[in-house]
Amino acid sequence: MLTREIEYLPDYIYPADEWRLIEKKFYPRLLPNMETLFSVANGFLGIRGCHEEGSPVYQSGTLINGLHETWPIIYGEEAFGFAKTGQTIINAPDGKIIRLYIDDEPFDLSKVNLLSYERVLDMRTGIVEREVVWEKFSGKQIRIKSRRLVSFVHRHIAAIEYEVTLLNADAPVVLSSELTHPPEIAGSAGDPRASRAFKERVLLPEKNYHNGHRVVQSFKTRSSGMTLACGLDHTIDTECTHSHQCTCEDDCGRTLFSVEGKQGQTIRLTKFMTYHVSRSVTASELCERSDRALDRVINQGFDALMDEQKKYLDDFWDRADIELVDDPARQQVIRFNLFHICQASSRAESVGIPVKGLTGLGYEGQYFWDTEIYVLPFLVYTAPHIARNVLRFRYRMLDKARQRAREVNQKGALFPWRTINGDEASAYYAAGTAQYHINADIMYALRKYVEVTGDSEFLHNEGAEMLIETARLWVDLGFFSSQKDGQFCINCVTGPDEYNTVVDNNAYTNLMARENLWYAVETVEWLRDNKPERYQALARETKLQPAEIEAWKNAADRMYVPFHEKKGIHLQDDDFLEKSAWDFKNTPPEKYPLLLHFHPLVIYRHQVIKQADIVLAMFLLGDKFSLDQKRRNFDFYDPLTTGDSSLSVSIQSILALELGYLDKARDYIEYALLMDLADVATNVEHGCHIASMGGTWMAMVYGVLGLRDFKGDISFDPRLTRTTGQGRVNLIIRGQRLSVAIDQKKKETQYLLKEGKGLTITHQGEKIELTEGKPVTIKIKETSFETQ
Ligand code: BGC
Repeated sequence: MLTREIEYLPDYIYPADEWRLIEKKFYPRLLPNMETLFSVANGFLGIRGCHEEGSPVYQSGTLINGLHETWPIIYGEEAFGFAKTGQTIINAPDGKIIRLYIDDEPFDLSKVNLLSYERVLDMRTGIVEREVVWEKFSGKQIRIKSRRLVSFVHRHIAAIEYEVTLLNADAPVVLSSELTHPPEIAGSAGDPRASRAFKERVLLPEKNYHNGHRVVQSFKTRSSGMTLACGLDHTIDTECTHSHQCTCEDDCGRTLFSVEGKQGQTIRLTKFMTYHVSRSVTASELCERSDRALDRVINQGFDALMDEQKKYLDDFWDRADIELVDDPARQQVIRFNLFHICQASSRAESVGIPVKGLTGLGYEGQYFWDTEIYVLPFLVYTAPHIARNVLRFRYRMLDKARQRAREVNQKGALFPWRTINGDEASAYYAAGTAQYHINADIMYALRKYVEVTGDSEFLHNEGAEMLIETARLWVDLGFFSSQKDGQFCINCVTGPDEYNTVVDNNAYTNLMARENLWYAVETVEWLRDNKPERYQALARETKLQPAEIEAWKNAADRMYVPFHEKKGIHLQDDDFLEKSAWDFKNTPPEKYPLLLHFHPLVIYRHQVIKQADIVLAMFLLGDKFSLDQKRRNFDFYDPLTTGDSSLSVSIQSILALELGYLDKARDYIEYALLMDLADVATNVEHGCHIASMGGTWMAMVYGVLGLRDFKGDISFDPRLTRTTGQGRVNLIIRGQRLSVAIDQKKKETQYLLKEGKGLTITHQGEKIELTEGKPVTIKIKETSFETQ
């Protein structure tokens, strides 16, 4: 169900545009949200959309993926096996500041008289451009133009081009370009989704220096021991007389340019920024890397960075675009969502994808299951090499996952529910570490990656070891219950729905664990029979016994899946029906999300659901449920689902489409699409909801086009939704490039293999052989759905 109305931003601030997000007017009220939405990032480095002049600002943010501080978790009451160390992303020194003074008066958007204002995030070029005209009380008018990017090509580089033109008079101009110690974070104030504040300064200064127009600073984090170096360099381009002064202290490096500004002359300052972090290398080594990176880009110049950025994005859109014809408003939102996933993941490489990308400090910059279940499908189909990086990152965490399993008295490996450095960082077990399903989620993602890309090497090397250890965990965690006819049960876990915690036999968990076990059996047996050397090596490394494989098979085959015969529905968990009904009628919209207004136990006692749980299982494992069963389950659970997590509506929309609930589906898709741009979850100031963005891709591809890929067989069952007209999606399947176009009016789909040796797909049950360059247009069969 939907608990809130979407509040649209008026079109005059926010006009629809197919490629650009445009802010027509500066509204202080919208500053926190706009800082998030106008973020630029490349997956390693992110800069929130705060204005260059440093003020006004809501939450300045220069975020480096993985740069975190650790802190001892203090529990009111300790217990064995609780996570011990918290991990929180920290703000790096703010390198984007360029303070501007004209006649010694500072330029501050919130205080000055603006004759014009426009800011644009262009998703084709990857650049945020702002142009304003400021009129001073003296009547002097100044045009200020800036362009900003975080390079996709140079992982450690960001740059700003800042131009000042005096339009009608001469005046002294001062540009103070700074690298400043970040301001303290305000902290969570009771909202578990926000970040945390530190009492003591985290970044302890190491070496700092300046040279010419360049400043370089380095630090070590107080507790996590990470090193960081950052540097700035500049070029200035003007006909006017100018001089500069450079200083570098622990808290602020600054290059100050004083210019005798002349009417009609443009002063162009270009600023290059670099950031480097490490867990093992000294700060001084990172300073050297900073110097080298700055040397390189300063020679190259801003225009070259822009060209490379455009090329990178041309390729991205070629692989990943979803085009809508004549629907600029939806087109904008869809591209905005895809663009932000690109920004969150492209150069993440050896680290994970934080749930807010690098657009805000929400959820402490940590990695959750969001990546594998919500973002990975998009990556698998549009950027397989990035999908592999994400899975490889989990593989590198395997030793820590083994250790974590020991900490909670289990065999095998247990991946952390929340983490940055691989250790478990969740301090709450009920809606946190009890979510053992993360193991199965990662293995589900592994399977999807392998089947859609065909990368069996990865499965046989890294994947198989993860499968063995996760399978061991499940077999050790569950038991054959005599109360349930000797079926395999898993008690005391939390499923995806965080409003029903520490339950017995969460259906999602059991079903996903079963898949995990079967996949482990299948993979290991295949290796034994086909690649005996690899099998032997794996068996040696993991001390695998043949009897274990039997045990996995047995547990999976006898997995208990709770079902209520009378009602004909799956039970979300054994006791779901034992709980009292939630009084939805008397819960006003402002009481959502419930987690901010009710004690957890009140929520846990009721039949109220935070996010798709059994409904998610019916999507991920759709081939294990009949359509009739899906309908019964959906009809029962959907009205109980608040969508208090942004991870919910996209999944609800996919099932609603499959079941032909078109109006419902349309509303859910709208909600999912606008999660960030219309701030549906009312917390976009903390950062974009990257999982929801991935969910919108799934809503389009698995929902509207009806893609299913069980066992790697690609089939489509396009839905005539009546809301989307014509559209096209690009997909990469086993290295072949497929474009699928749908025309809702003509009721037809066109499949075009743009590149590849030949691909077999299924359209509404009919097999189609595709050959390169030959489009196949085929009618979408009328179904009873359309009458709904
Ligand atoms: C959701 C989790 C999700 C987390 C981070 C929570 O509100 O319930 O499923 O992993 O947010 O996005």
